[in-house]
Amino acid sequence: MRIIRVRHKGQAFYAAIISPESVRPLNREAGQPEEIPLAELELLSLVRPSKIVCVGLNYLDHAREMGQAVPEEPVVFLKPPSAVIGAGDAIVLPAQSEQVDYEAELALVLGRTARFVAEADAARHIFGYTCANDVTARDLQKKDGQWTRAKGFDTFCPVGPWIETDPGDLQDMALRTVVNGEVRQEGTTANMIFPPHLLVSYLSHIMTLLPGDVILTGTPAGVGPIKAGDEVSVEIDRVGFLLNPVISARPGEPTAMQ
Ligand code: MG
Repeated sequence: MRIIRVRHKGQAFYAAIISPESVRPLNREAGQPEEIPLAELELLSLVRPSKIVCVGLNYLDHAREMGQAVPEEPVVFLKPPSAVIGAGDAIVLPAQSEQVDYEAELALVLGRTARFVAEADAARHIFGYTCANDVTARDLQKKDGQWTRAKGFDTFCPVGPWIETDPGDLQDMALRTVVNGEVRQEGTTANMIFPPHLLVSYLSHIMTLLPGDVILTGTPAGVGPIKAGDEVSVEIDRVGFLLNPVISARPGEPTAMQ
């Protein structure tokens, strides 16, 4: 099932896509129609996380390309919720960076609060899966030594275009990044070091994961830069296709440090 978040007659809710033209509200309120045409809906941000937890160096091939040892435990960092944008929204290159990279990642969305969850129970806490781009100012990541600035700019967390609730085998998914129609990054979740259910368990022993929280599960080898005017898409088999244009600044925003 493919799920989106929408507003209809002032009400915001999650809905399942049931045809190219219509959706069905997930938890129907009294008086709500069973089927609503897409044309009557306003599309809303897919997720409203309290936090976005990311895992670095979680693919064998990417750890090698970065010249890093294979981690013994997940390498964890956060992106702020303010970084989230949706499918079609622009990634804005910040004036502070000379090199901004794409990173295609399988993201999972929490459906239930998770605290001290065993790996075998993790699936019950996952609402579904979507595509994410862990956009990274690579030069600032190296310069700062820790990653908050490099990973935390507004628009640096494209997520979408929908939540797929049943994507099949999580450890057999091809994922790729396409820039201006050219494949730049290609990998498979089979190379993931710490798989999604293990990550939910591991993270739930650190912090309470809330419904709507998002976990980015790492990127395979082949990361590289994007520039203004590019169109970058993250594509994951059986999950979806997330396309975002890249711009240097929004109208009215500064293009240099002030
Ligand atoms: Mg990443």
